[in-house]
Amino acid sequence: MVVKCRRCLTNNAEVYLPHSNLSLCPDCFMLLTERKVKHTIDAYRMLSKNDRIGVAVSGGKDSSSLAYILNSLFGKLDMTLIYIDLGVPKYSQHCLEKVRSLAKMLNRELIVYSLEKELGFKIGDFKSTIYGRKICSACGAIKRYLFNKIAYDLGLTKVATGHNLDDTVEALFNFYLEGNIVSLLRLKPFLPKTHPKLVPKIKPLIKLTDMECLLYAGYRNLPIRTVECQFSRGSRMLRRKELLNMITEKIPNFKHQFIRSHYKRILPLLEKACGDQEDKIYECITCGMPTSLEGASCHFCKLVNLMKNLRARSERK
Ligand code: AMP
Ligand code: ZN
Repeated sequence: MVVKCRRCLTNNAEVYLPHSNLSLCPDCFMLLTERKVKHTIDAYRMLSKNDRIGVAVSGGKDSSSLAYILNSLFGKLDMTLIYIDLGVPKYSQHCLEKVRSLAKMLNRELIVYSLEKELGFKIGDFKSTIYGRKICSACGAIKRYLFNKIAYDLGLTKVATGHNLDDTVEALFNFYLEGNIVSLLRLKPFLPKTHPKLVPKIKPLIKLTDMECLLYAGYRNLPIRTVECQFSRGSRMLRRKELLNMITEKIPNFKHQFIRSHYKRILPLLEKACGDQEDKIYECITCGMPTSLEGASCHFCKLVNLMKNLRARSERK
């Protein structure tokens, strides 16, 4: 039996969204997806008129959808795309081609920061260090630092990333399991400016599922990567994502309810209880950028230094 779209009641439905029990045609699905993002942006007051925004694009479905949606919702917004080339063989070049086509499609400037050109190493060089088994953690720290540094140097006022609902629930779930209050307090859809050198971060896709982002990118024909990173986060993360998907099969709005309860009910109480434990921010003794470490180099500078020492050692050999 052909199901009609629940919104326009005219076209045939192609998309079924279990969490809201909606069958939609592609046009209505795209429209509602864009509206959802607009609603998130308004609800958290993520953007203001004079913002100059940097969108961190990885070539993946989420950040490509994000850039496309922001571009269509706010045509006049000052928006620059930022890509970090981590030097992963095959993968980084493939992703770079995708973000180049995206920038062309949207007619927006793309800033490419190459780790190898700027700092003289590739992310894979961490393989022979203590980060060998957790390259993603070094990679994450480097990316976070650079999003902020690049945006700060360019005088941008916000950085947007494509973190979606599934990413966020998975991260929250882990922090709950670990009882990691500090990280729970930090994981927010909108991180305001807490230091003159910290550019506020926004996550406008926090209410879209993996599937919604994938379908949106597909229907809009966005250039997205088809190759996986060889260092892609391990099986533990995938197992947890699978587990959360199994729960969602039984309770379709599980993820939506999880983040709603967290942000509406739990987080305000946590913030109240931990008010005086708020992060102290210092400046890195090497680069001068903000860090939680007092009288020391920031995590990024430590990683860069590790690479420098590695190079010096191999040159001496
Ligand atoms: P991930 O940490 O890979 O889950 O990516 C989360 C978000 O960070 C993506 O949606 C992008 O907005 C951004 N991102 C990840 N990798 C890159 C990259 N190489 N260059 C620019 N932005 C990135
Ligand atoms: Zn530093």
